[in-house]
Amino acid sequence: MANKLVIGNWKMNGSRQSNTEFLSKFLAPLDQLENVDVAVCPPAIYLEQLAGLVVQSPIHLGAQNLSESEQGAFTGEISGSMLRDFGCHYVLVGHSERRSLNGETNALVAAKFKAALNAGLTPVLCVGETLDQRHDGETLNVVNDQLQAVLDAVGVQELGKGVIAYEPVWAIGTGETATPQQAQEVHQHIRRYIAEISPEVARTTRILYGGSVKGDNAAELFSQPDIDGGLVGGASLDAHSFLSICRAGQSRQL
Ligand code: PEP
Repeated sequence: MANKLVIGNWKMNGSRQSNTEFLSKFLAPLDQLENVDVAVCPPAIYLEQLAGLVVQSPIHLGAQNLSESEQGAFTGEISGSMLRDFGCHYVLVGHSERRSLNGETNALVAAKFKAALNAGLTPVLCVGETLDQRHDGETLNVVNDQLQAVLDAVGVQELGKGVIAYEPVWAIGTGETATPQQAQEVHQHIRRYIAEISPEVARTTRILYGGSVKGDNAAELFSQPDIDGGLVGGASLDAHSFLSICRAGQSRQL
């Protein structure tokens, strides 16, 4: 049975000083927690600093993005093998901010998922609908398309080497959280979609919820049968808030 997984996405926040302060408050209490896996995804420039600070702690490091290419003339890009070189375990792919602000298509996200696996990283595939798409009754179709692009690129066994994060775009950074029932409905759909191809992969793949997860709503979200943890933005910037979410992740093992 896998532990729940809680990943903090720091987005473009932090400084050398605030990172040190965060970990000085976070590491000792984290040691008291059991049966929960925890990762943080700082901006790439701080990965080396964080790798030094979290050594001998149970925290895994993740990156927020990677190039779909392995090396070469791609100014400003960072490859999966470079992230591995700096101690990364996870990498987010297809976060909605990258889909909307950087024009990342389903095909590009699938190529990044594949590049992450090739580099030995665990990709965290972010999927989710906008508010308009939800109002148009398109939620499940949007999620299907986002999943299918990765299935087409790598197949179901490789999909199962990653993590999936359902993040309704309308709930990200807005303070508006999907209700546990709304989230569970989509999580169950994702698991069933994968189960049509491989029941085993569907059973073992961790599906996280993301979208304004906070200390006071995490436990109820995490108690849903198909929610295996959380991808946390804003609330992961504060050690106390992030700890309370990680604590909620201990309550039930898969
Ligand atoms: C995110 O950035 O993935 C996210 C879920 O952000 P927030 O928790 O702030 O909604």
